[in-house]
Amino acid sequence: MHGLMMQGQLTLTGIMRHAQENFSTREIVSITADNPRHRYTYGEAFERAGQLASALQKLGAQPGDCIGTLAWNDHRHFELYYATSCSGLVCHTINPRLFTEQIAYIIQHAEDRWLFIDPAFVPVVESIAASLPGVKGFVILCDQAQMPATTLRNTICYEALLTGEPSGFSWPELNEQSAAALCYTSGTTGNPKGVLYSHRAMTLHTYGVLMPNAFSLQEYEAVMPVVPMFHVNAWSLPYAAPVMGAKLVLPGPKMGCGETLCALIQEENVNVAAGVPTVWLALLQYLRETAQEVPSLQRVIVGGAACPWSIMQEFEKRHGVYTHHAWGMTEMSPLGTFNGWLPENIQPQERRRRRLKQGRAAFGVEMRIVDDSGKRLPHDGIAFGALQVRGPWICERYFKSEASALTTDGWFDTGDVATIDADGYLGITDRTKDVIKSGGEWISSIELENIAVAMPEIREAAVIGIAHEKWDERPLLVVVPTPGAAVDTTEILDRFHGKVARWWIPDDCLVVETIPHTATGKISKKDLRIQLADYRWPETLSA
Ligand code: ADP
Repeated sequence: MHGLMMQGQLTLTGIMRHAQENFSTREIVSITADNPRHRYTYGEAFERAGQLASALQKLGAQPGDCIGTLAWNDHRHFELYYATSCSGLVCHTINPRLFTEQIAYIIQHAEDRWLFIDPAFVPVVESIAASLPGVKGFVILCDQAQMPATTLRNTICYEALLTGEPSGFSWPELNEQSAAALCYTSGTTGNPKGVLYSHRAMTLHTYGVLMPNAFSLQEYEAVMPVVPMFHVNAWSLPYAAPVMGAKLVLPGPKMGCGETLCALIQEENVNVAAGVPTVWLALLQYLRETAQEVPSLQRVIVGGAACPWSIMQEFEKRHGVYTHHAWGMTEMSPLGTFNGWLPENIQPQERRRRRLKQGRAAFGVEMRIVDDSGKRLPHDGIAFGALQVRGPWICERYFKSEASALTTDGWFDTGDVATIDADGYLGITDRTKDVIKSGGEWISSIELENIAVAMPEIREAAVIGIAHEKWDERPLLVVVPTPGAAVDTTEILDRFHGKVARWWIPDDCLVVETIPHTATGKISKKDLRIQLADYRWPETLSA
């Protein structure tokens, strides 16, 4: 028997309408290339999104067309999110930090009709323009006065495009299964793959991230996504914030700048912020060096890479800020797990152990770990295996691929190796391709890195497996020192004793000036391995 309830479509248009009805006076504050502090309301933002949708129709955009964006987090990018998706187009956010060949490949593969570009990214697009015959034209995200000189053909100024467009756009009623947005994975091997999000998946994901044991946003809060809007929809915050009426603070091109982040937090009363560990290292270093305070900030959501204990500690002890550890991936919209609040009465050791975990599954996500033969492993916090997931906001098939991305029994293999304990807490051990196998046993590089970055003289650390005659592979610790600190590598390795099994302790420690990062700001072990291709173990050299 069927239930007898209405068939309301779950679309991003619903989010827009809800915010227009309830929170039209709440603010969006942005830093843009042409304005150090742009400020307006959700009401104005959605009005302009309607004007943009109207302009896109006049430019000939047809339902289902992909519209590419190369842009930082700001109000114009926010308008693009809604103007495209809610008018039946697909918002294709492109990561401008990718290699130019990858950017060209992505634009061709998606068949982007128009590209909306921040002035700063015009040179990148100029360098590949010859390979983009399918793109009808380029809209530069600025006003007329800031229009850069460019060799791009058919360029339009964004503000000029909106001028004169009528207000009160009539948004179409969309099917919830229609595509809303497109984001390509970074493609560490082979070409990047497109994840095509539906309105339904993104709306359900927005409900999921807003739960009290997840982002838990409230009206009268101010949230700052320091995770780019060009990567996995800035973890859904541009949808979640208007649902709750939270103020949105967008740091534009200044996401890696501790000074700007500090100023935005202080001046806009930001109390929630989200980003990968590297941005928090930059903020914390700035706060330390300038003895500044961020009294409004209450919680920081850290994901995309394992959050070291040292970051959690410094936020909590110095600034009274609680860090929530989260895990996810492009193919998961991205939220998979979230480490919520812990009760006060948990012992410090247990507290630390739990908070270092990536958290529990968001409601909507199911998880399992399996061995090499696909057999389910116990959720006992000890057994580790390939992490697989399923749920309504998880990718089933990559864009334009005929093949399913799932296992024969319908799970998505995340490419991560993990443990899950009896309380459902996920512990990511490594990415499958970064796992270190020594004498047939796995060593978790993440756990070793956590220990290393807790040492005051280490700013950043990566552990990679290096071929070893006897053990197949042994861990090598690579560290970037804290500015001005002296590093004694023998002493550093000594400090691992008692913290992990003896055979886990790295065989050597290398001090370097920088560690390579991926286009999404994470440590790139692939590039580090290439950089250290000539590395030999000390005993091999002396032998
Ligand atoms: P890319 O790194 O290629 O841009 P994603 O942003 O989708 O792709 O990254 C997803 C991956 O990032 C996960 O599969 C996992 O390996 C890693 N990751 C994400 N969050 C965490 C976390 N909290 N702890 C450890 N690893 C994480």
